[in-house]
Order: sequence, then C-alpha cells, then structure tokens
Amino acid sequence: MNFIEEIVEKDIQEKKNDSRIQTRFPPEPNGYLHIGHVKAICMDFGIAEKYGGVCNLRFDDTNPVKEDVEYVDSIMHDISWLGFRWGKVFYASDYFEQLYNLAIRFIKDGLAYVDEQTAEQIAEQKGTPTEPGKPSPYRDRPIEENLRLFEAMQAGEIPDGKMVLRAKIDMANPNMHFRDPIIYRIITNHPHHRTGRKWNVYPMYDFAHGQSDYFEGVTHSICTLEFVVHRPLYDWFIDQFSGDKFLGLSPYGRDYRPHQYEFNRLNITYTVMSKRKMLQLVQEGLVAGWDDPRMPTVCGLRRRGYTAEAIRAFIDKIGYTKVEGTIDLGLLEHTVREELKEKVPRVCAIFDPVKLVITNYPNGQKENIIAENIDGKSELGTRVMPFGKELWIERGDFQEEGDKNFYRLSPMGREVRLKSAYIVQATGCEKDAEGNITTVFATYDPDTKSGTEGGTRKTKATINWVEYEAALDAEVRLYDRLFAVENPSADERDFRELLNPDSLKVITAKVEPSLAKAETQDHFQFLKQGYFVVDDDSTAEHLIFNRTTSLKGTK
Ligand code: ATP
Ligand code: MG
Repeated sequence: MNFIEEIVEKDIQEKKNDSRIQTRFPPEPNGYLHIGHVKAICMDFGIAEKYGGVCNLRFDDTNPVKEDVEYVDSIMHDISWLGFRWGKVFYASDYFEQLYNLAIRFIKDGLAYVDEQTAEQIAEQKGTPTEPGKPSPYRDRPIEENLRLFEAMQAGEIPDGKMVLRAKIDMANPNMHFRDPIIYRIITNHPHHRTGRKWNVYPMYDFAHGQSDYFEGVTHSICTLEFVVHRPLYDWFIDQFSGDKFLGLSPYGRDYRPHQYEFNRLNITYTVMSKRKMLQLVQEGLVAGWDDPRMPTVCGLRRRGYTAEAIRAFIDKIGYTKVEGTIDLGLLEHTVREELKEKVPRVCAIFDPVKLVITNYPNGQKENIIAENIDGKSELGTRVMPFGKELWIERGDFQEEGDKNFYRLSPMGREVRLKSAYIVQATGCEKDAEGNITTVFATYDPDTKSGTEGGTRKTKATINWVEYEAALDAEVRLYDRLFAVENPSADERDFRELLNPDSLKVITAKVEPSLAKAETQDHFQFLKQGYFVVDDDSTAEHLIFNRTTSLKGTK
C-alpha cells in the first residue's frame, strides 16, 4: 500500500467528504503522454478503482497557444490502451464562464486587481523568499476601475501582455506564490481549440486547477511534488468560496472540500521526461515523430514493443514516495523481458547470414520441422520450419580456425545442434576473392532429429538457422537508448547535443517463413537476439521488426 492509499483509507474511515472518492487525471493537451504521465495515471485511476470511486479525465486546456485536438485524441487513445476507463471527460475550458465570474467576484471583494506592468517588472518586484516583495503601483486601484479594465481585457480592447489580473494576497508572504499571483492573462491572437475566439482572457493554472477540482467534486487531487509549494495557494483560493463562504459553486455542498496530495515524478536515465523537450525533438526532426520507438512516450513505447502490462508492472515496481530520484532504464527493460519471456514465440532470425550446406543431406529433399513456440510449453502452440540441404546460419556461429573454447561450428568437428532439428559437424568452408566466407560445409546425423529418440543427444551448443530458399528478408530496426549520457536534463550542454548517435541501426535479416503472417504489434523473441515487435509500417511484402530490448541488459 502506498502512502496516498493510506491517506485515502483514513479519509474513508473518517467519512471525509462522506467517504466519497473522486480523482482526476489532468493532462494539458499540448503533447503526447509519456511514461511519467503513466505513473500519474496509475495513481489517479488506481485509487478510484481500488476504493470504488471514480476517476475523470480533465483536459487542462487553459493555454490555447500550445494546445490542440490532436493531443486530446492521442491522450484518450493512450489511456484506453493502458487499460483504464475514465468516468467523464471534462475540460477546464468548460469552466471559463464560471472562472471569469469568479474573477469578477474576487475583484468585487477586493481580492484581485488589474496590473499594467510588464511581466518583467512584476517578476522584479516579487522579492526573494527572505525579502518581501514590492507592491505594484496599481495594487490599490478602485474596484470600479478594476472591473472596467478586466471587462475591457475580455472585450479584446487591450493588447496581449499589456495587463494582467492579479490576486491581492500578501506581498510579504514567505511563500512566493502568495505574492499577488497572476490569475488571468490576455491571449487574443490564438483561437482556442474548443472555445474558438470567445475568450480574450485565460485563467492561469493556480486559478483554474483547484477551482475545476471543486466544481467537479474531486476529493483527492493528486499531482507531483513540484506542486507542493502551490498547495497553500490551492487551499487559499478554495477558502474564498467554500465552507463559511459557500457560493454554491459545487454540487456537493458546504462541507465538501478537495485536497491536494503529491508524489515524486518519474525520471528515467538516458531519456528526457518533458513534453516541451520531446516536442523539440519531433519538430526538429531529431526523431521520426512522437511515436518514434526511441521516445519515452506511450505511443513510442508501444511501437517499440512495450505492452500495457509491462508498463503498468514497471510503475508498480517503482512505487510512490515523496523523494525525487531517477530510475535506471535497465529496470524498464528488465520488466518488459519478464513480461514477454513466457508468452511470446521464440523464433529464428539470422542477422548476419552465411550459407550452410549439409553435404550428406539428400539433394532436392525438403522436410517440415515442427517447432514448439516455446520449448516445453506445448500450450503455446507450434509452427512449421521448412528444412533442407541449404540453410542460413549466423556468420559468427562458424570459425575457420576453431579453438578449444569455441563450441559452435568449426573444422574441429564438434557436434552442434541446429535448433529443433539435427546435429551437424562442420567440415570446411569456401571463400570469395577477398577472403570472405561465402559457404560453410557440414554433415548431419539423420538419427538425431529433435523430438525423436536420437534427438536427446546432448551438444555443447545449439545454433539458429533458417532454410535457404524459404527464408524471408526482413528489415530489423535495432533501437538503443536515445541519449548518450545518463542524465541529459542535468547536463549543462543542450540536450539535443547529447543524443546517442547509435540509437538506431537498420539491418536486413533472414527470418523464418512463419513470420510472413505476423501482424502489427505481434511480439516475438528472436532467439539469442532479444525481443522484437512488428512495426506499424510492416507489410507482408516488406516485413519490419523493431527491437524492444536485447535479451540481457547491455550495461
Ligand atoms: P511535462 O513537464 O512533460 O509537460 P506536465 O506535468 O506539464 O509534464 P501535464 O499534462 O500537466 O504535464 O501532466 C498531467 C499530470 O501528469 C499531472 O498531474 C502531472 O503531475 C503528471 N505528470 C507529468 N509528468 C510526470 C512524471 N514525470 N511523473 C509523474 N507524473 C507526472
Ligand atoms: Mg503541466
């Protein structure tokens, strides 16, 4: 049980908010979801599921400059794919009218004023945590004037940046967020993706988030630790219209009150966890898109071959605390391996092929080997592997010289098993003019076929193969970590200079003909290579596989 679940259980026992549990997941639709968001999703939806409550989806769409429906659609798709179901879909923009009226109310109560200073001037007057700020010269302007100016702001009569509405709280408060925070700003030149040109003023996060929670009846407003310093302000705003000052803005009555709780953000080594930076990578063409398999986005991880179960198992493993830290990328890779290990077919794909000719195998003969998808797991089915006199094997599985520690093919004549088939012994090889090996020769023992009595004979090594003519060509994309340094966000260099130049290598492999039927998002283990998934762009004519992860951690 995590610490937030403990809080929730206590609240239920104490009948806080009538033991009602309501959470929300509040993404800003200004980018695609990343695995950091999944941590928040698992918490928000998980609490609701576990305690019989509801989790709504709320788009925090208060900045039209950066937001778009493309992002709204992808966010919904990704949450569903992860396996979560929301109650209702809300938009902060649904509350623009209520929030505007609330701002007017604040002005009338002497709790807000229109400031005509620039953002820089306002920032300069903020002071420091130990020194009080300086009051704005506009702080005490008459209520009537504030009302008139705020209405003029909304009417589109004031240019962007010329005025803001600030809450009038306390310029000396040790919490900087209380020093008359900006609560409304003017944005006239960007239509909003839902409200079009209706609004020329937009609420700031602090004036929208808690209020939206309150309007909806959220009981536990869970977010990440950077919002701890905002919590007193969250509470202060809610104090102004709840409890004794109840204005009827919530359907849950006078005693209802939302509370904010915070947990540690997810950071992972060798990647960045910020939509802003990811957007830059996409826009500057440094990756192929939001769903580039190297991206830590949900769509990128999916295309990379991460399953929803694997991602959720990872989030379960890392847990929730109140201390920031960075998780080793190796743990994510380990989790997906564990998840796929006993589930996905293990097939042969030859990455650096060389031809093997079995000289004593009858000319023109072909046979079908029936191979189990996972050895010893008959419930996972079998597949047919055509076998013949000529095969493709890995170049590295043959050594011309041989040596006593090399157990695979060499003219030393060691017995080697061809996976799921016969035992062979190498006899020699043929080379081209440059000295490259073009063909390896071997003999086989017909009495050693796997699955027959002779099939149990032990060899020190087993190698992979694909029948020469039946083999299919497949494009294999070998992905590696996106960044070359462990913590790109802490580096003084620009993060774009820190990209791993070897994060993608593309090869053509010879793969089993059974893979002709593979469909997008089918997962496989390529024996001795790693886990692979069929790419979205793969077709029967042009197979494409993405490496999810190698079999063992690289470092
Ligand atoms: P980014 O900095 O990447 O833009 P954000 O916090 O601005 O992220 P939002 O869309 O505002 O993105 O986030 C929606 C929710 O997801 C918030 O509750 C936020 O706390 C949570 N969240 C965002 N990033 C992480 C993360 N790395 N780990 C855990 N939760 C996160
Ligand atoms: Mg945000």
